[in-house]
Amino acid sequence: MHIVRTKAELKEAVKRYHQEGQTIGFVPTMGALHKGHTSLIETAKSHADVVVASVFVNPTQFAPHEDFDSYPRDELADLEILEEHKVSLAYLPTVEEIYPEGNITSILLDEKVSKILCGKRRPHFFDGVATVVVRLFNQVTPDVAVFGEKDFQQLSILKQVVNDLDMPVKVIGSPTVREDDGLAMSSRNRYLSAADRELAPKLYHLMKEVADGDATIEEAKSALYHSGFDVDYLEARSAVTLEPCELNDSNARLFAAAILGKTRLIDNIAL
Ligand code: AMP
Repeated sequence: MHIVRTKAELKEAVKRYHQEGQTIGFVPTMGALHKGHTSLIETAKSHADVVVASVFVNPTQFAPHEDFDSYPRDELADLEILEEHKVSLAYLPTVEEIYPEGNITSILLDEKVSKILCGKRRPHFFDGVATVVVRLFNQVTPDVAVFGEKDFQQLSILKQVVNDLDMPVKVIGSPTVREDDGLAMSSRNRYLSAADRELAPKLYHLMKEVADGDATIEEAKSALYHSGFDVDYLEARSAVTLEPCELNDSNARLFAAAILGKTRLIDNIAL
């Protein structure tokens, strides 16, 4: 596996892939890799000749009070996992490489997609994500890029950004990978205390109850609240437009975010 840390080195490697006629599949991550991330790598492999993965904790998607400084970083473990999964190129840029001093450009999304669901509590989050992803896409020049359905709002927004900006890359979604007890895998799950880790799968189980018609959204919210979750949102929205919808509408999806201790859990499932 080739490891690069600068745009110049990346460009050289990417130029070679293009000269060899190899298509590029790209998997951007913030590291602290788990099986959710490696499933994206496998999806990328099935759509492209070579896989490029990036590890970059993006400062512009964190608010000052959020966990940018304490976000889990373990470069050696990440590189081992990327190597194991036969990634061709690992791109680990510094903040300066992505945001050179004096840069003036960022993406400002329409509030109708960026200030709903997760964007309500994290108003700068999706602008930051779009800004870094556009920069990474321009650097890596992938043919396809793979994102997890775990972050469905992010996936949906990025599909639209690429379309709006006529970027020559296909954004592909890959299904959510869960622990055996149903909890959606996340780098932040390691923040959970032992007791909260035991409680955490309840979010998914109650969402399933709603999806199966065994509980209403209000009943699920109340059960979560009484179990110790601080529910941010639990609502049905269209998987296509992200607009609010009824549970039984076609394309309806159930979206949830709830805080347990210091950890914000998010999840979504088809209805
Ligand atoms: P992150 O490192 O958390 O920014 O995530 C990088 C990519 O991995 C994003 O496209 C996420 O949606 C995806 N991802 C994170 N967790 C999971 C999971 N449990 N299942 C599938 N994809 C995931």
